[in-house]
Amino acid sequence: MAEAQYLLIPVGILDRPAARRLVEEVEYLLKKGYEQVEINGERLFPVLSEGLAELSRAAQEELRDHQANIHFFDLHPESATRFLLHGWRVDRRRTALGEATEAELAEEDAGLVVDCEQCGATFRVPTEGDYACPSCGATFHADERGVISYYES
Ligand SMILES: [Zn+2]
Repeated sequence: MAEAQYLLIPVGILDRPAARRLVEEVEYLLKKGYEQVEINGERLFPVLSEGLAELSRAAQEELRDHQANIHFFDLHPESATRFLLHGWRVDRRRTALGEATEAELAEEDAGLVVDCEQCGATFRVPTEGDYACPSCGATFHADERGVISYYES
């Protein structure tokens, strides 16, 4: 018999609170005895850096023993790009929570992933500091987690 599997279909933004809720839902399912959780990512959009950071954290902490059994599939194309930018290995719009550990490591080398809230562009900066968005020119400060605050223009 196949192992007990559960399908989740999250809809909308993956920011930090949404990622937190998703992690709690997965934990609840694991406690109920499901061994495998499949997450349909077709309607999971937009995916923010802070949401992926929260998933990476959970993958190394409370979901550590289960990360290989938690998959995202049919990711929204733009969301799949976000996962890729964060170093997750994505194959045919599919990835596993187990990819997150590597993502965290890759990110240390590659700097911070920043989402410009003014124009929606995603890009990397080498470290904490003051920058201008390469797409719209908005000036901002990026902290050590890639969270940005804008300056009055
Ligand atoms: Zn911008």
